[in-house]
Amino acid sequence: MTYSVVIPAYNEEEVITETYKRLSEVMRGMGESYELVFVNDGSRDRTAEIIAGFCACDENVRLVNFSRNFGHMPAISAGMEYARGAAVFIIDADLQDPPEVFPQMAEKWREGYHVVYGQREKREGESWFKKASAKFFYRFLRSMTSVDLPLDTGEFRLIDRKVCDAVNKLPEKNRYIRGLVSWVGFKQTAVPYVRQERFAGKTKYPLRKMLAFAMDAITAFSYKPLKLATTLGFLIALFSFVYLLVIFYQFFFTDTTITGWASTMGILLLTQGIVMMILGLMGEYIGRLYEEIKNRPAYIVQEVIGGEKQNQDIL
Ligand code: UDP
Ligand code: MG
Repeated sequence: MTYSVVIPAYNEEEVITETYKRLSEVMRGMGESYELVFVNDGSRDRTAEIIAGFCACDENVRLVNFSRNFGHMPAISAGMEYARGAAVFIIDADLQDPPEVFPQMAEKWREGYHVVYGQREKREGESWFKKASAKFFYRFLRSMTSVDLPLDTGEFRLIDRKVCDAVNKLPEKNRYIRGLVSWVGFKQTAVPYVRQERFAGKTKYPLRKMLAFAMDAITAFSYKPLKLATTLGFLIALFSFVYLLVIFYQFFFTDTTITGWASTMGILLLTQGIVMMILGLMGEYIGRLYEEIKNRPAYIVQEVIGGEKQNQDIL
């Protein structure tokens, strides 16, 4: 099989039929064998039933059903495990990333690139806050790590079989996919595109999930935040030393009475705040260490529907 398309879906009943239609059209147009691997991430609406319907009448469709909601990254990881194509496309179910870019990506792949990621030139139909925070996040994350993480790039991309296998082999459970794909290396290139408005439905990333996602990404690719403790410690020590000299000077050489309460409280509260913040930061890393050490799988598959024909092909 030449192409696989991995589509994570969580409560996407409003868009999934349109997604299926547009993907099928594009894939048929490319004129090679393909499969659509839908991963239903514990949807509570009719997403799974609708996809199972596609499986029943289209042998190119497969459905991987999770036992509950595990999240966007685990869903993509599962899709990558089940994908069997020589090249694997990853795309969101909401049609924000246009599948019509696939042929362009495939062309680059034929030229010999192993990863062709979509780079957002523009984002349409997203809130001012989402755009600004995303822009800041990509730049901040890049400055935090030594891995070459491309800017303004989501999960929308084509990856070669070799890259897919390499990423699948990585044992970590906290999977920031686009980071892992950068980390494994290979020949990578970008295709610019315009990110569109969601076809229907609402974003599944409320602020709370966005923050958790950002924290996962940062902790997975950088331990610079931990070094913050050292830097701040030095700065505070230096400041304290200078300030102490001032106090000595005042005590021995001037008549000013040294007033205490306000400055003591100020310094106490400030340093307490910093110490608590750093403890919290360490907690973030320790919590994640704990998660990894427990070694529970990143997701649990309840059932897989469809794709039998391709299985026979392999046998
Ligand atoms: N998604 C998922 N599990 C989740 C949240 C999201 O599989 O827990 C899927 C969702 O169905 C969509 C993709 O991940 O296909 C991206 O989510 P969304 O479009 O809501 O995020 P946004 O584009 O707003 O960042
Ligand atoms: Mg979206």
